[in-house]
Amino acid sequence: MTSPTIRQSRELERQVAGQATSDGSGVRLTRVLTQDLHRRLDPFLMLDAFRSDDPSEYIGGFPAHPHRGFETVTYLLAGRIRHRDSAGNEGQLRAGDVQWMTAARGIVHSEMPEQENGLMQGFQLWLNLPARDKMNAPAYRDIPAREIPIVTDGQGVRVTVIAGEALGVKDAVQRPVTAPIFLDVRLPAGTRYAQALPAAHNAFVYVYEGEVRVGDRGPAVGSWRMGILTTDAAADGVVLAAERPSRLLLIGGAPLREPIAQHGPFVMNTIAELRRAFDDYAAG
Ligand code: FE
Repeated sequence: MTSPTIRQSRELERQVAGQATSDGSGVRLTRVLTQDLHRRLDPFLMLDAFRSDDPSEYIGGFPAHPHRGFETVTYLLAGRIRHRDSAGNEGQLRAGDVQWMTAARGIVHSEMPEQENGLMQGFQLWLNLPARDKMNAPAYRDIPAREIPIVTDGQGVRVTVIAGEALGVKDAVQRPVTAPIFLDVRLPAGTRYAQALPAAHNAFVYVYEGEVRVGDRGPAVGSWRMGILTTDAAADGVVLAAERPSRLLLIGGAPLREPIAQHGPFVMNTIAELRRAFDDYAAG
């Protein structure tokens, strides 16, 4: 497979370091995409990255908690997590697996580690739903690693296609309105990777190993940094280059351009809808 030819690459708009925080029952993580970026990175609401081999930093997990109004995409690189929810779904995520959960009108679930030691590493992305879909029935899908396409190009660049299309391969997950692209890209030293992106998509990279240059200029995006890509009507994609072995997530989606009202695990369009989410949760 060869990369598409990109006539004009997006550039690096800025780098974001993320915030060290803890969530759930004391799980240490880095919140890469924070609320102040909701507008800029619409339709994405959050990206958390976690990596620890110290059980005290993850063992508490995420006991039962609600979500309404959006989708969560969990991508695990190392470790095991057990998921249970109020719709009766249960599943286990292992290294390389993805869980795509559409909370929509509401789900209560738990996400608990199923290991007492060793490395736990992965990501959780929150993808907004269009207003018209926020009160749909919830849906849930575990996608085992073996069902997620991995494509390698002529230079040895390896792309895991979690959503969208890369190197001519389409993933099974296709969302009609936000049309998300979610790729895990591994670049050997001295390689480049070109990815087509719709001009209106907001997009970013999250480098979690090595460093990656965007569009052949500006500073490289370093490890554990998000690089926000310019949204430029003239650009037809992005070219990424690595001087040393590097890994990154490349994520993009079509903006919804709708009002966002968020409180914790509820993301609606108005304050009144948020109040209703709290009332509905309290009422069970
Ligand atoms: Fe959750």
